[in-house]
Amino acid sequence: MTISPLPLRPHERIHTKANGSIDTPPRVPTPVHNFGTLAVHAGAHLDPSTGAVISPISLSTTYAQTAVGKPIGAYEYSRSSNPNRDNFEEAIAALEHARYALAFSSGSATTATILQSLAAGSHVVSVSDVYGGTHRYFTKVAAAHGVEVTFSPSLEVDIAQLIRPKDTKLIWIESPSNPTLRLVDIRNVASVAHKHGIMVVVDNTFLSPYVQNPLDHGADIVVHSVTKYINGHSDVVMGVAAFNSDDLKERLTFLQNAIGAVPSAFDCWLAHRGLKTLHLRAKEASHNATSVAMALEASPHVISVNYPGIKSHPHRHIAIKQHRDGMGGGMLSFRIKGGHAAAERFCQNTSIFVLAESLGGVESLVEVPSSMTHAGIPQAQREAAGVFEDLVRISCGIEDAEDLKRDVLQALEKAVVAPKITNGRPDGRVTNGLPNGD
Ligand SMILES: *Cc1c(COP(=O)(O)O)cnc(C)c1O
Repeated sequence: MTISPLPLRPHERIHTKANGSIDTPPRVPTPVHNFGTLAVHAGAHLDPSTGAVISPISLSTTYAQTAVGKPIGAYEYSRSSNPNRDNFEEAIAALEHARYALAFSSGSATTATILQSLAAGSHVVSVSDVYGGTHRYFTKVAAAHGVEVTFSPSLEVDIAQLIRPKDTKLIWIESPSNPTLRLVDIRNVASVAHKHGIMVVVDNTFLSPYVQNPLDHGADIVVHSVTKYINGHSDVVMGVAAFNSDDLKERLTFLQNAIGAVPSAFDCWLAHRGLKTLHLRAKEASHNATSVAMALEASPHVISVNYPGIKSHPHRHIAIKQHRDGMGGGMLSFRIKGGHAAAERFCQNTSIFVLAESLGGVESLVEVPSSMTHAGIPQAQREAAGVFEDLVRISCGIEDAEDLKRDVLQALEKAVVAPKITNGRPDGRVTNGLPNGD
């Protein structure tokens, strides 16, 4: 390997490690730097052989050894570790104020690996309105491994009663919840849990590390579906967990390798690229969601709006305490007048918002949870959690706020007003020749 002759700045000088391998010292970021600096620089190492500013994608599955058991560099086999995954994990650890991060092939694989780390006979307490796939794993898979999960719609109130002194090992929080955007005071739950030696996990997918850092509020593990805000471009399925404990690092690294639900080097590279603009995207999405939420709240065609970034939200005080600058994030939901049919018509009449599941990408999306993301939950249970047939969920992207607002208002007119006036077509579309998004 030849060392690059490029003129490097002092902090970028390439060093030769004691074992002869070449390394670049850590780039600028340290915990004293702010989010944007960390997002751009953490884990972004210069390529020691060429000086490339952007890491090459290390597609090799295996790495040469100079003697038996003596790899040339830090790597042996790509499932166990590879440079692109290391770089991505380093960046996430910096952004979540964690010592360690481990990446997985999906958010769901992250959840599964954490649950697998619990011994048979363990008990878990979870918020009721967790992500559908998490609910499915908790109820259909964890049980087969002898791990029992109890759900609570009001974790903060019930926590002390739900803990089984010997068996409860983990508390699972999603804040905000999906799709009703309820918040949980992480600090309150963690202080009760820690008295009993119980670990707290927070799924931070809906806010991203830019808006909320659960470890700062007492959580032991923060998990993300990287698929959403962190990658942010709707082209990678991936997950990550971040934490501080050495014991967790050992157990979860062992399982990451043993179970093998690891992301590809290419996906790690893409997600790392996406992450470098997370602060810009999350800020813009939050700004857009605030504009849309306020426009919806002022509309006579809307029953209620769930958005933690505005005053009417019942947990606004938690958002102010727990979120960066009290931001609400890019997700919101609302109940439309006219029932399920109006909710469907709304989603079919937006022209910028795309009717699709998922969230957290640069493009705005819209969906009806009762027939799409949450269709698997029985109606009574769904409605008890506030997921009514007329609920519409919105993921705000980073388009122009005024355009998004106008799109939502015109779709409301078509979904709620037009059918009354025109005795609308059965599909509720108006025939005035305007583009309607399909
Ligand atoms: C999407 C999502 C998951 C699952 O992540 P995948 O990457 O799709 O496996 C978990 N939690 C939340 C809140 C999500 O939105």
